[in-house]
Amino acid sequence: MDFKSIIRDIPDFPQKGIIFRDITPLLAHPQGLTAIIQGFQTKFAELNIDIDAVIGIESRGFILGAPLAMQLGASFIPVRKPKKLPSAVFRVEYALEYGTDTLEIHQDAIGVGKRVIIIDDVIATGGTAAATAKLVEQTGAKLVGYGFLIELDFLNGRKALPEVPIVSLVNY
Ligand code: 5GP
Repeated sequence: MDFKSIIRDIPDFPQKGIIFRDITPLLAHPQGLTAIIQGFQTKFAELNIDIDAVIGIESRGFILGAPLAMQLGASFIPVRKPKKLPSAVFRVEYALEYGTDTLEIHQDAIGVGKRVIIIDDVIATGGTAAATAKLVEQTGAKLVGYGFLIELDFLNGRKALPEVPIVSLVNY
């Protein structure tokens, strides 16, 4: 499936000068989600790494991470925006262009030594994905890879990430 021809470009969203890559038409395609998950599975299989758990970053990371976890026979673990998770959390604050953002994970969500991958729809500057790696580290689990549907190469976000394999299915 030609993902790029189905992903929609929205100019000046959420602010002027930014081209937002809108994945909703791809999710709406009857075979879209299946093709995305198969794409991830193929690329992670090539890496030949054991995966105990898939972490999805709120909220589009949930849409992709949960079905991938099912296919891999792995746990699914949500990383959420503040004040959504009901039990004790680890918290990370990270810088945005203007201001900061916060993400949380349940302290007991994964388990020491478990091997996890982090999934999100897009890597732009890498700030969100790098912050999520810090949460994984706090739980004592081991980050073994990242998966993104879209990588914005010109922002060089992968430079901000720890040195683990990075899978992306579409590059701009
Ligand atoms: P970063 O932290 O890498 O700068 O930004 C990545 C986060 O912002 C991801 O959680 C992603 O969902 C969102 N994001 C940034 N740019 C886009 C975009 O063009 N399209 C979509 N769908 N999400 C984006």
